[in-house]
Amino acid sequence: MQNKYKGIIASNGIAMGPIFMYTKQKIEVSNEKISENDVIKEQEKVKDAINSYSNEIENRVKTTPEEEAIANAHTELLSDPYFEETILNKIESELKNSQLALDETVKEMVMTMEALDDEYLKERAADYKDIGEQVMYKLMGVKANNLSRLTKEVIIISKELTPSDTSTMDKKNVLGFATDLGGKTSHTSIIAQTLDIPAVVGMNDITKHAKDGDFAIIDGDQGEIILNPDDELKKEYINKIDKINAEKQRLLEMKDKKAITKDGKHCEVAANIGNLNDLDIAIEAGCDGVGLFRTEFLYMENSHFPTEDEQYEVYKKACEKLEGKPIIIRTLDIGGDKGLDYYEFPKEENPFLGYRAIRLCLDKIEVFKTQLRAILRASAYGKIRIMLPMVISVDELKRSRDLLEELKSELNEKNIDYDKDIELGIMVETPASVMMSDKLIKYADFFSIGTNDLTQYMLAVDRGNENIAHLYSNYNPAVLRAIKKVIDTSHKAGKWTGMCGQFASDTNATKLLLGLGLDEFSGSASKLSKVKDTILNSSFKQAQEYASELLDLDTANEVEQKVLGDN
Ligand code: PEP
Ligand code: MG
Repeated sequence: MQNKYKGIIASNGIAMGPIFMYTKQKIEVSNEKISENDVIKEQEKVKDAINSYSNEIENRVKTTPEEEAIANAHTELLSDPYFEETILNKIESELKNSQLALDETVKEMVMTMEALDDEYLKERAADYKDIGEQVMYKLMGVKANNLSRLTKEVIIISKELTPSDTSTMDKKNVLGFATDLGGKTSHTSIIAQTLDIPAVVGMNDITKHAKDGDFAIIDGDQGEIILNPDDELKKEYINKIDKINAEKQRLLEMKDKKAITKDGKHCEVAANIGNLNDLDIAIEAGCDGVGLFRTEFLYMENSHFPTEDEQYEVYKKACEKLEGKPIIIRTLDIGGDKGLDYYEFPKEENPFLGYRAIRLCLDKIEVFKTQLRAILRASAYGKIRIMLPMVISVDELKRSRDLLEELKSELNEKNIDYDKDIELGIMVETPASVMMSDKLIKYADFFSIGTNDLTQYMLAVDRGNENIAHLYSNYNPAVLRAIKKVIDTSHKAGKWTGMCGQFASDTNATKLLLGLGLDEFSGSASKLSKVKDTILNSSFKQAQEYASELLDLDTANEVEQKVLGDN
């Protein structure tokens, strides 16, 4: 019988085919204590198992940047002395057998990660579990049950897929997958997006309903899986797949084009990145540059504030990869929902209105200087622009500019090369910066609108609160008026405005934003071609008329309905 189940969209697209139920080998860990005579032997077993898994990772064929990243992450964790030492200690001081010592250590580490108030790090707990499992297989001498050799094209259904499962799976035979567990930002979901495999996660109990060999459709656009569809539905979905493929093919031809409207307005279409792997994907997708490098990930992935040289290497590499295309590096935007393992933030009633971003940088001046110096030095290798987050006053911008000038003088004295004309811009993401935009633009070289925060602050609606999610809309006329004001102000001063909030990746809004006069769109790599396509097929004059019509509407709902009707 045909049945439909809903989950969380992990990766867009549609796939259909027979189901392969993937179950993991069950691991039973014995509680038996060892004698003191066996301590060394058990410790050696652990060391061998860790070495064996390390060698396996090193020799594994890696075909995507994500696989490379997972291999690196696992290697790094395995070589963390704390991991091995904790296991060895448990064996020696508590006389636990090697399997139990490993099992307990991994569980403790996972629990610590999951308790952190940080979605990104919570998701990384999956990497720890994964490593624990792989080392346990080595310890037990069992061959890991894996997806690396599939004999035909299948849809995988499993309780959970670890990053190792996804990175070692036989990609040519995996049509799509669905899992009971998992979230949108897990490594597994990210890999699915990179590989362009339709996937739905967080389905709760799809493993209870699906059976090996059953036929299934995965609809990654709706976040649904349909088991045993009837012939009519299959036909409907075959048509949808044909249309998606034809559209993909058509958009592929847009990727290296310049986004110029029919009447000659040129927009930059850039990508948002969090690390160098994202940059590889963005370049592949034909980005005109990077409109937002969220450097806080560099800080979050580290166990210490990254040094000047560590940062310099990353920024320099980014410049080299971009071969002259521009990159906007946003200075540290930490605090709010983004914490650091190695730094204790003050306890605050309202962290989103608290000690964060530029406020923190201007307070912890050495942290700020270290980053600015690294950026300046890397600017000798490409077209870097600097951008400050969460600005609310001219004072913050002037202090930052003075600091930058001071650092430039230091570099001059030491004869260290950097881009003398490096631009300094700000994110416009607070109502204060909108209202003060005419003053701020005197000291800023450009604006980039951060709609994710601007919408939450303009509307006083927490961007992460499900209870009021219906009030959070980029289409609210208050937000649209703010966007228009900022763009107009910059143009009057002979400068430009971009947008790096998610609104720039909402392809339903491209024509509206174009009409409001936006000069640069920066968003998800997967949406760049579609944004370019819309701009190439628009007339700027008509888009302006369209935007002023929409600006005249009374409610977010009216604007949204009109925009959706036109797309
Ligand atoms: C924004 O606020 O729109 C933005 C791009 O920054 P972040 O999402 O990192 O806060
Ligand atoms: Mg922001």
